[in-house]
Amino acid sequence: MKPLERMLRREDAEELLSRCVQCGFCNATCPTYLATGHELEGPRGRIGLIKSMVEGHEVSAKTQLHLDQCLTCLNCESSCPSGVEYRRIIDIGRAWMKDRIPRGIAALLPRIILSKMMAHPRVLGLGFRVGRWFKYLLPSAFRPYLQLPRRLSLDPSPATETLRTVLLLKGCVQRHLAPAINQALRDLLRKLGYRVIEIGPADCCGAVGHHLGESETAKAQARKTVKALSPYLLEASLKGDQAPIIMMTSSACGLMLQDFEALYQNDPEMAEAVRQIHQWTLDPVELIERHAPEISDRIDHERVKGLNLKIHEPCTFQHGMKLKGRLTGLFSSLGFKVSQGKASHLCCGAGGVYSLMNPLMAQSLREEKRRDLGLEGEANTIALTSNIGCMLHLDSKGDVVHWIEFLQGVFKEGRG
Ligand code: SF4
Ligand code: SF4
Repeated sequence: MKPLERMLRREDAEELLSRCVQCGFCNATCPTYLATGHELEGPRGRIGLIKSMVEGHEVSAKTQLHLDQCLTCLNCESSCPSGVEYRRIIDIGRAWMKDRIPRGIAALLPRIILSKMMAHPRVLGLGFRVGRWFKYLLPSAFRPYLQLPRRLSLDPSPATETLRTVLLLKGCVQRHLAPAINQALRDLLRKLGYRVIEIGPADCCGAVGHHLGESETAKAQARKTVKALSPYLLEASLKGDQAPIIMMTSSACGLMLQDFEALYQNDPEMAEAVRQIHQWTLDPVELIERHAPEISDRIDHERVKGLNLKIHEPCTFQHGMKLKGRLTGLFSSLGFKVSQGKASHLCCGAGGVYSLMNPLMAQSLREEKRRDLGLEGEANTIALTSNIGCMLHLDSKGDVVHWIEFLQGVFKEGRG
């Protein structure tokens, strides 16, 4: 089957592309355009390249490079006045490219290894262990992913469980590198009265393969996640407004769950399940903010005295899920003094596995982001984020943490 047929009908692709009026407003917020000043390293240029492909013009390895260097940060979607759905256009471009321009073995191998490893949790775990032994022989871009996993030792929380059920997906990378994040959310939610069921073992939700343009691998992984959720989806359809909430603690994965709908738009067998998943998936911020008054009474502010708290809202959170400002708003409403960097809309360079594939650009964006957050130079500064990829990429000796782990750490057992 041809790539466009796999993704969507040709007329749909043309309709998506036709919404771009080539005004170029988006270039002003594109990190790769700002770094290079090159038209084809910006969204307008990339959309032009994809349009040209769809119209049947020749494509070259240079086109492939310009699409590969896109971070999929979706900043261009947020700044486009014409409502262009760049995320769908870049998917078309990558699927088209995959069949037209074969990659050399050196470029292909890491993509295949990464996307296949994500499909096998045990192989992934083994990969992390072996990687730790050979840490100093590997390129430096891999090192953030080779840290020892952090776990919390928690007393079992009193489980009142009067509120809705939360289906918490375990995640693939996170369960190996930072299981403490899910532990912290589970603990917080149970203290607030939710019944939490951890779903797994499921593979990667498909986000990594999707980022790499491996749409078939991504779809196979997404299908497994849907299957893991299916018994609860069926139960939920009987419960109406008491349907469970589906949640992941990584905003990149939460966005992927919501995007299953687009991935399976031409598959009638999957349509109802992915519609329900979209409807019932919430980012943890969207749930915790409903309890802000109750939580704010139970914060131990003494424990954070003297800390300079910065908020890093990942691209998947602010541009993908359209939740810009909500993490900052949550912490402000809980009584914390927090701020964002001046360039908070710009990507930190993590971009899924982008930092492994394009380490130079990723490193330069990382340094800019750390400076913007005040992590270089301002004393006692900690940045709170909502995505493990950004956290690992930006962190330097514990100065970037997941907001959930931070909040759980300052949440008091009893009322203050
Ligand atoms: S994507 Fe939007 S902002 Fe960018 S050139 Fe097209 S219409 Fe203009
Ligand atoms: S997704 Fe990000 S990197 Fe890619 S074109 Fe849009 S703004 Fe630029």
